Amino acid sequence: MMSGFFDLVIRGARILDGTGNPFFVRDVGIKDKQIAFIGKNLEGKRVVEAEGLFLCPGFVDIHNHVDHGVLAFPDAESYLMQGVTTSVVGNCGLSMAPIDPARAELTRHYLAPFLRKEVEYGWEWRTLAEFFEKVEQGGIAQNLAPLVGQGTIRIAVKGFDEGVPSSEEMAKMKNLLAQSLDEGAFGLTSGLIYPPGSYSTPEELLELTTVLKTHGGFYATHMRNEGDCLLESVAETLALGEKNGIPIQISHHKAVGKANWGKVNESLKLMEAARERGLEVNCDVYPYQAGMTTLTALLPPTALEGGVGEMLKRLADPDESRKIEQNIEKGIPGWENWIQSLGWGNLVISECEARADYEGLSLENISRQNSSTPYRALFDLLLETQGNVTMLLFGVNEEDLRTVVKSPLSCIASDSWVTAPRGGGKPHPRAYGTFPRFLKTYVRENGDLSWEDAIRKITSLPATKAGIARRGLVQEGFFADLVLFDPQFIGDKATFSDPHQFPVGIKHVIVNGELVLEDEQPTGLRPGKVLKRSACR
Ligand SMILES: [Zn+2]
Repeated sequence: MMSGFFDLVIRGARILDGTGNPFFVRDVGIKDKQIAFIGKNLEGKRVVEAEGLFLCPGFVDIHNHVDHGVLAFPDAESYLMQGVTTSVVGNCGLSMAPIDPARAELTRHYLAPFLRKEVEYGWEWRTLAEFFEKVEQGGIAQNLAPLVGQGTIRIAVKGFDEGVPSSEEMAKMKNLLAQSLDEGAFGLTSGLIYPPGSYSTPEELLELTTVLKTHGGFYATHMRNEGDCLLESVAETLALGEKNGIPIQISHHKAVGKANWGKVNESLKLMEAARERGLEVNCDVYPYQAGMTTLTALLPPTALEGGVGEMLKRLADPDESRKIEQNIEKGIPGWENWIQSLGWGNLVISECEARADYEGLSLENISRQNSSTPYRALFDLLLETQGNVTMLLFGVNEEDLRTVVKSPLSCIASDSWVTAPRGGGKPHPRAYGTFPRFLKTYVRENGDLSWEDAIRKITSLPATKAGIARRGLVQEGFFADLVLFDPQFIGDKATFSDPHQFPVGIKHVIVNGELVLEDEQPTGLRPGKVLKRSACR
């Protein structure tokens, strides 16, 4: 029956279909990019023997920043090797579009620490559709599901100016959001610790997100504060969701700083209570105790007023830089102050092309090495590199991590940029290890979750949440995005000191019916698509 009918047949795997159901053993027949048939004794032009392996839907990473580096790394090996077949991009308020030509330089300069330098980006695109057209032209290995960033929209309309938008500016921002959603964006993101997102009041965000109510899509937020004001930030987010009646995704959920450890128990309760009232709220989490972001995030929001260029002028001015130092020392109500909450020793330089000798050193180490104060070391480094530095922040405890990982509300997400060994630097190991680490640590080693439930959290849950159609399940009629892995061996290898290491145990990965990873080796094929939300979802 059906002999030779299929383009590809995967034979005899234990299928974890993404619903959370226990495995069943069948063959999967793939034709025309889709899962055409699930049955027995199937034949095809190509056959992959998969006895003893788990076959599951390709992993959907609901929170990452692949869009920033995809032009430099379209093959995204660091993601394929983890089993990620779809990346939801444009997170933390920082999408690559829309761009106003008059303010393109502000956007470019601000995103510079996250971009990879080996290609000339051009920056000729204006809209989200134009950017992703350019991405697709070169071909991509995995699927991308774009979100649009509130910070990027605000830069396009208002630059890096603080203050409440005028009604005309608000109308422009709403138009850009509506246009991006009409072009297929799956939702809006915010990064409320990053200027200019941090300049936005709750009222401004409430007004802007009314567009999601009319045009569809969800709201993902890197909240205003994940430290001392974590619970207040969750409350602000839930209130916005409930007032506008829109789905909420709380990004990379955690409690930062020793003084706040344990607060995730309360924050998850707040989310559960909001769910009981009818709000569709979820969160995501990366399975590491450190985060990573731009070094400029250590400065108070006012230091960035006017953009990176203005920030550099202030840091070069003795009076202005002293004021910044005093603001950090005093603290600003509601502002997440990592220098105070984590300490200089827990802030470690990650990627810094201009000073590669600093990579892997904490700001405490660097200041000692230079016999300067830590503040001077920080300001000098920002000046020397034009702000083009990323850092690791060590501030989460393992018990909290386990609590969030185990919550039925959470998806697992990498929150990483895309890189490759040739990319250099010391990126966060999550770039290579997130999904294998999650399965190895929390399923095989700790037994915190069953395989079935763990796979659900990285497939159907994020796909459904993001509104991605016909992906995230092994089901007839769904696109053939699939992962085959060995449960005995799956695991991460990347560490903070040696991050450029691929994981092990993921045997084959299929995107839109084509093998992009075969016997743990990338094939170089680029069958990925830029996905678009259909208007009714
Ligand atoms: Zn973020």
